[in-house]
Amino acid sequence: MVIAKARAVDGPDKSFRAAEIERRDLDVHDVLIEIKYAGICHSDIHTAHGDWGEVKYPLVPGHEIAGIVTEVGSEVTKYKAGDRVGVGCMVDSCGECKNCREGEEQYCLKGNVPTYAGVDKYGEPTQGGYSTHIVVTEDFVLRIPDNIELDAAAPLLCAGITTYSPLNHWNAGPGKKVAVVGMGGLGHMAVKIAHAMGAEVSVLSRTLNKKEDGLEFGAEAYYATTEPDTFEKLAGTFDLIINTVSAKIDISAYLSLLTLDGAMVNVGAPAEPLEVNVFSLIGHRRSFAGSMIGGIRETQEMLDFCGEHGIVPKIEVISADYIDEAYERVLASDVKYRFVIDTSTI
Ligand code: NAP
Ligand code: ZN
Repeated sequence: MVIAKARAVDGPDKSFRAAEIERRDLDVHDVLIEIKYAGICHSDIHTAHGDWGEVKYPLVPGHEIAGIVTEVGSEVTKYKAGDRVGVGCMVDSCGECKNCREGEEQYCLKGNVPTYAGVDKYGEPTQGGYSTHIVVTEDFVLRIPDNIELDAAAPLLCAGITTYSPLNHWNAGPGKKVAVVGMGGLGHMAVKIAHAMGAEVSVLSRTLNKKEDGLEFGAEAYYATTEPDTFEKLAGTFDLIINTVSAKIDISAYLSLLTLDGAMVNVGAPAEPLEVNVFSLIGHRRSFAGSMIGGIRETQEMLDFCGEHGIVPKIEVISADYIDEAYERVLASDVKYRFVIDTSTI
């Protein structure tokens, strides 16, 4: 058993503290990873704050993990010590249901095992990446392309795949007009990936404060949603809208920006229900959909795509002592565009 150093939180209003957690002995298919970097996703904050319901504390969040394999179980074939690897939002699934067999393990009919705040097949609570080590079954470990640094790779494991998957599924590409709502961690990845897929990308942000960055990430246009004429001007424009906003917004207003047969996909996960005026859907055969991370095969495809296209997130590397402040800054949308914890500071 490995005792990992970690940063844990004991309740919705508590600060992070140093902790030690046990990582299980390696089963035959397990991989022991020395974590080097862990991204801070807004989902970590929703979970730590109990936004989505009750959580078992102490909680060690973190599902954007990049590190190095240090040991493998006796029957591991995919990885060896020294490999550069990542772990995302899930660490296991049943492997047998229809969705798992189709490589959509995130939609496992028995429920995937989340990297933290879940329960693994041994009945133990899972604890995430704000820690120095993790043990994961090899099928849920990803390979990081050689040309992507580990710190920049970490956010791809959630922000990258969560935006790549719907862009891929809804066929973002040449000739398609894609709008990204909210330019935070997920949003800025959506811009970069959609642009690399060949789509014409627009950003819909509250203000124009981040416009220069958005254009640099590959957007062709950048609009402020707080400006009164934006929605009128853009009515019926986009084939696909990816909504990454972590709070409740006026969905019907955004649906009005879709073309005939256009789709708006929600990846943002606010606690409050969102309201939809059906007339903004039925008049133009529009869809309102949701999407959750991506399967393991697609996550590897996304990593390789990012490697080939030189796509990396814009990150701010922080020490473990800065997690509470980083959470405050994410909540204030004061992040450019992902905080990544250097786990050597844990
Ligand atoms: P983030 O970095 O905080 O970005 C969210 C962005 O939303 C902000 O940058 C801001 O963009 C916009 N925003 C925030 N509050 C707003 C408000 N009150 N009204 C309008 N816009 C607002 O968060 P993230 O890490 O990208 O995560 C975004 C959401 O996706 C979270 O809810 C998270 O839990 C969820 N998520 C879902 C999945 C999935 O599988 N579906 C995976 C990961 C994360 P502007 O400043 O540009 O306006
Ligand atoms: Zn996440």
